Parts: sequence; structure tokens; C-alpha cells
Amino acid sequence: MAATGTWDAIVVGGGAAGIMAAIRSAESGRRTALLEGNQQLARKVLISGNGRCNLTNRAADDPTHYHSTQPRFPRQVLAAHPLQRTLEFFGSLGLELKEEKRGRLFPISDQAQAVVDLLEDRLAQLGVRVFRGAKVQEAIQDREGFSVRSTAGGYWAGEKLVLASGGISVAKLGADGSGLDLARAFGHQVTALRPGLVPLVSPDEYLRAAQGVKVWAEVRAPLGKGRVATDTDDLLFTPYGVSGFTILNLSARVVPLLGAGPVELEISLFPGQTPEQVSQVLQQRWEQHPERGLAFSFTGLLHAKVVSALLTKLGANAEVPVGRIGKAQRWQLAQLLTAWPVRVSQARDFDHAEVTIGGVCTTEVDPTTLESYLVPNLYLAGELLDVHGDLGGYNLQWAWASGAVAGAAG
Ligand SMILES: Cc1cc2nc3c(=O)[nH]c(=O)nc-3n(C[C@H](O)[C@H](O)[C@H](O)COP(=O)(O)OP(=O)(O)OC[C@H]3O[C@@H](n4cnc5c(N)ncnc54)[C@H](O)[C@@H]3O)c2cc1C
Repeated sequence: MAATGTWDAIVVGGGAAGIMAAIRSAESGRRTALLEGNQQLARKVLISGNGRCNLTNRAADDPTHYHSTQPRFPRQVLAAHPLQRTLEFFGSLGLELKEEKRGRLFPISDQAQAVVDLLEDRLAQLGVRVFRGAKVQEAIQDREGFSVRSTAGGYWAGEKLVLASGGISVAKLGADGSGLDLARAFGHQVTALRPGLVPLVSPDEYLRAAQGVKVWAEVRAPLGKGRVATDTDDLLFTPYGVSGFTILNLSARVVPLLGAGPVELEISLFPGQTPEQVSQVLQQRWEQHPERGLAFSFTGLLHAKVVSALLTKLGANAEVPVGRIGKAQRWQLAQLLTAWPVRVSQARDFDHAEVTIGGVCTTEVDPTTLESYLVPNLYLAGELLDVHGDLGGYNLQWAWASGAVAGAAG
């Protein structure tokens, strides 16, 4: 079979991590080949942030935003390539950024395409040879180095190999698990894989009354042993359950618990307010308009569909004039409005998940270089590894940082 080239470094996977690895590899003076199974590079970057690409976060250096079976593993990588490096790198390419809520950073043009265009420009400038449609099905190491074969019969040989082939979420974009198989073939273990940053399914049928409505809410998720994770932001009611920033963000910690049965989330529609304060709000409204029916009494305060779901949950008569409602029932409502129990029983599948929880076992990888402890000169980066970040640009920061470290090392 005709060789498609001999290289100092071969990078498998042309997503955020692989592109960054190829750039740093070439900047370190290596003749570098980048092999991407798709015809297009970085398809996930293109759809990230609803096509606007939330490429990092002002708080990206805070290690508590990253999660792994070995929680300390990501720290050294993030320290080696902190936020400042990401900002300098993209700044040098000509990308201007703007900050949105919760420190999220986006291209000022609101175009993920701009990020990919500038990365491709840098690859070309450095002479990185990009092979598109190169779906790698085998990678082996012998005394000469690595031999890599694609499904279409391409063959590459190289001294250093970087695997940056992603997790398994939204497989139609390219990361379909074939890269994890390459890592397994080198002897690496892969931890249990679960969908992360994903909407959650609720068995509470009455919730469907609120579908399509987005509210501002505080969502609390019990994590066991008295620990609770909280997020205050958008909450979206859907035909299957719940989504929105709060749910996606908390999902990474809730999903692993769902194997043991449903988890009961607690939702406050009045973040920061006590049931006493909410009860007072209701009292004032009801004193002003005592003739109004219970459901109508919320008009102007809460979305009617949400009120409908809440009153069903409470088993309350929507028509009863509020002037006739006693203190005890008002208190019950105030408690529901500040601590509404909503059960979630499963995550939506990987096709709806922004990231994969789990990946190549990090105990088998050197956290200072991302070189495999099992196979010298093999490096692993990005979502392929058992590391994921919170919602808000942290996953791309992990991809840039780990790609940069793996690409430069060796
Ligand atoms: C809808 C959506 C929105 C998101 N929005 C954001 C956001 O705004 N901010 C944020 O930080 N994160 C976001 N993420 C997560 C983020 O995009 C990913 O964590 C990140 O892109 C992972 O980068 P990666 O390079 O490790 O993997 P990937 O981007 O998955 O890249 C892996 C590449 O390897 C290729 N590949 C796989 N197997 C092979 C093979 N055998 N041979 C050759 N090539 C192969 C794939 O085709 C793919 O191009 C989002 C994810 C999704 C799904």
C-alpha cells in the first residue's frame, strides 16, 4: 500500500483538541499530519454555543469547573495552558472576544465559523498537512514508530502520535467511539461513559402542562450525604422533562446518580426569596384582588402554563376566589413556589449531550505531558480523556489546553 507520508507527529482528530495539538506540534518544529475522519474540521466547534462558540470562560482557571474520576488530573494541564494563553493565542490569530453572563467568552462576531477559519489559517501557515476523510481504523507501534491506517486505505508513519478523537456525544459529528477503540487497542482502559450537559427526562406527567416555557429559577440537586448542588439561571420545561442552563449544568453531577433511581430536584421560582417572603407577596396580591380565581391571581407574576402545572401538583382548585383561601394553603403554595419537587429519572441520550462523562482512564496518562504511561510517544487529549467541564466554555478550554500540552510535549 502506498504510504501517505512519514511524519514527526501524527494527530488523529481534527476537533478543537486535535487542531490545537497540531498547531503546537508544528510550532515546536515537527512535520505534522492532522487526520480527520470528516471532510470538514471541527464540526463540534461550528455548532458550539448555538453556532456562536463559547470558546472559554473568564473563570477557566478555576479547577472546580472540571471533573474527572481523578479530580486532580486536569489541574496541571490547565495550569500549563491557562486562560491567558488561550486569550493570547486567539488574539494572535485576530479573534476579538466579548464577555457574556457568567464569564462566558464568545467571538465578537458571534460566529463559530470565524474560530474555525482562523484555526485553519494557522494550520496552513505552519504547513500542517491536513488529511480530510481520513477515518483512522488502526494505529500500532513498532520499533520504527507508529503506523496509522484509515478505512479508505491511507497509511501514515510517525514518531509521535496524538489521539484527540473526542468522546461519543453527538456521534453524527464524527466522534463515534472509534478513537476510544484506538486507545483500547494500545491497552488503555476507558471508564463508564455517560451523557453529560444533557437535558433530563421527568416521569412527572403533570409537568407537561408547562412545556415550552422558560423561567428564571434556582435548581437544587441532592448529591447524597447532605451535599446539594445549586444553579440559578434558565430552566426550560420540555415535552419530556426539563432542560435549560441550570439543568444542563447540574446534569453532569445528577446523571451518575440516576442508576440508583430517580432524583428529586428542588426548584425555586423565586430565587433568593424565602417561603415567608413569597407568602407575603401572595397575601398582598390576594388582598388587592380577592375576587380573582387562584390561577388568574398569578397573572403578571408567573407564566400561566407553569401555574397550571403547579396547581395540578398541589391538587388545588384553579377557580376558587383567592379571598377564600386560608393561611395554611397560602403557605403550602409559597413552599411549592420556593421548593418545587420535580423528579428526574434518566438523561436524554448521547445525541442530546454536549459532552461525554468518562473516557480514557487518567491514571494511565502523565498529567504534565499527557503522554501515555503505557505506550511511549503516544499522547491523548481533549474529550477522549476522562475529563469534562461545566457548561460555559470550560469544555473547549479543556480541549485547547490539553491539545496544546499534548502537541508541544515530547
Ligand atoms: C451541541 C454542542 C454544543 C457545545 N457547545 C459548547 C460551547 O459553547 N462551549 C464549550 O466549551 N463546549 C461546548 N461543547 C462541547 C465541546 O464542543 C467539546 O467538548 C469539544 O469540542 C471537544 O473537542 P475534542 O477535540 O476533544 O473532540 P471533538 O470535537 O469531538 O473532535 C474529535 C474529532 O475527531 C474526529 N475523529 C473521531 N474518530 C476519528 C477517527 N477514528 N479517525 C479520524 N478522526 C476521528 C471527529 O470527526 C472529530 O472531528 C458543545 C458540544 C455540543 C455537542
